[in-house]
Amino acid sequence: MVTKTSKKKPTAVKPVRQPTRGSGVGEAALRRAVIETAQAMSECGLSPGRSGNVSARWGDGMLITPSGMPYYELMPKDIVHVTADGAVAQGQRKPSSEWRFHLSAYQRRPDCGAVVHTHSLHATVLACAHRRIPAFHYMVAVAGGTDIPCIPYKPFGTMKLAKLVADGLTERRACLMANHGQIAIGDTLGAALELAQEVEVLAEQYVKVRMLGKPRLLSAKQMADVLKRFAAYGQNAQAPAGKG
Ligand SMILES: [Zn+2]
Repeated sequence: MVTKTSKKKPTAVKPVRQPTRGSGVGEAALRRAVIETAQAMSECGLSPGRSGNVSARWGDGMLITPSGMPYYELMPKDIVHVTADGAVAQGQRKPSSEWRFHLSAYQRRPDCGAVVHTHSLHATVLACAHRRIPAFHYMVAVAGGTDIPCIPYKPFGTMKLAKLVADGLTERRACLMANHGQIAIGDTLGAALELAQEVEVLAEQYVKVRMLGKPRLLSAKQMADVLKRFAAYGQNAQAPAGKG
């Protein structure tokens, strides 16, 4: 795969399928799905430079993108298996420096099958201003609540950051990370990537709306109604996206 310099609209990304355990599809296929997701993330402009990383739950640990490799060069053997206690078997590449918060997300959210972390432009702009995304648009509910919170700053790669990420994801499927970027989780790699794209779109809209003045936020009652409607579409809160 070749990297593209031109920015595609996030919606241009093809959906990424994720093999599930028990589906008869094994580790090799999941490694390929992690690579496809990282490449899709990069192609749609969500991860400037080599920023961002992708993982999928595997056993009681995870499979995660390696540190410092361009996504288009990745081969299945480059994806790193990290166990539940953070161990990496000899002979593997170094996992992404952010592996601790990926692991903490899986440990805090047993329902989470995949994690996408990016430094996407507008989400990062808001995160650097320590601003959450409030209920300025009903789609904010896509992350599972009435806002998309911004967790405080801690240095990358630290346990302190991993703990804050786990706390931020306890009641949401996505959050902003102060002076850093954003993180999104999902049942599958495709769902996590789609949510990261949605967070970036909402962040861009919110930044622009603020230029017009104080946004008119939806009330707690209106958002409760939206969340109820999302739940009616089933587990996949992204489902209503195409419905207006
Ligand atoms: Zn990062």
